Amino acid sequence: MPYRRLYILQIWLRRLFLLTLAALVLLTGLSFYQGTMSWDRVGRMAGRMTGLPGLPQWRVAIIAGHRGFDTGAVCPDGLMEVQVTQAVANRASKLLQAQGAQVEILDEYDKRLNGLAVDALLSIHVDSCIDLSGFKVASGSETVIPEQDAKLVSCLKDSYAAATELPLHPTTITRDMTGYHAFQRVADSTPGAIIELGFLGGDRDILVNGQAQMAQGVANGIVCFLQSRPEATATPATSGDEPLPSPTPGPE
Ligand SMILES: [Zn+2]
Repeated sequence: MPYRRLYILQIWLRRLFLLTLAALVLLTGLSFYQGTMSWDRVGRMAGRMTGLPGLPQWRVAIIAGHRGFDTGAVCPDGLMEVQVTQAVANRASKLLQAQGAQVEILDEYDKRLNGLAVDALLSIHVDSCIDLSGFKVASGSETVIPEQDAKLVSCLKDSYAAATELPLHPTTITRDMTGYHAFQRVADSTPGAIIELGFLGGDRDILVNGQAQMAQGVANGIVCFLQSRPEATATPATSGDEPLPSPTPGPE
């Protein structure tokens, strides 16, 4: 009786479908309950995938320090700064994408930096191969969005310290950091920071074996900023040092 068999098969297929649906609903509900999923995140995921205006979209750029240019600091045994910056940039990027952010990983002197307008820019570097320990975070000294830059820096400091348990290195931030080239190249509206993850010498162990924690700290810091960033107080471009171009005289 082939018809009867078909009928039974149909009933079982329907049950299987309903069961799968119920499991899906249950799993989604559980994710929301545990806080691993939220409407915010669903919205950002949808925004990233569809690119529809109106849906929230986070755009993040991460510079893998020295990539495409040189090795950065090097230890006598050959451990290079760029190996660490690239690995941490890749890991942080994946973590941010899982939060629904659209992430670009850039070279040190990437062409895309010119006029780059994103919600957050972070450049990842590592200090020299000397026997010191600690990390540093700074933003550009010349900025028209000081509140946003400061918030990004403080979020990164807190999250990175929590994830890695590294101390903040007390040495004053150098001009290399506050005058960092990328800050001058991106759009005025782009909040930016630079982090020195640690010292290639004294922090070698975590720099080589603890890249997951470092990336988590970096990603958490960026998410902290994106979730709580202060409103951009639109400072008119005319308040800068650049004089306005004098009006061209009309035809006489
Ligand atoms: Zn560097």
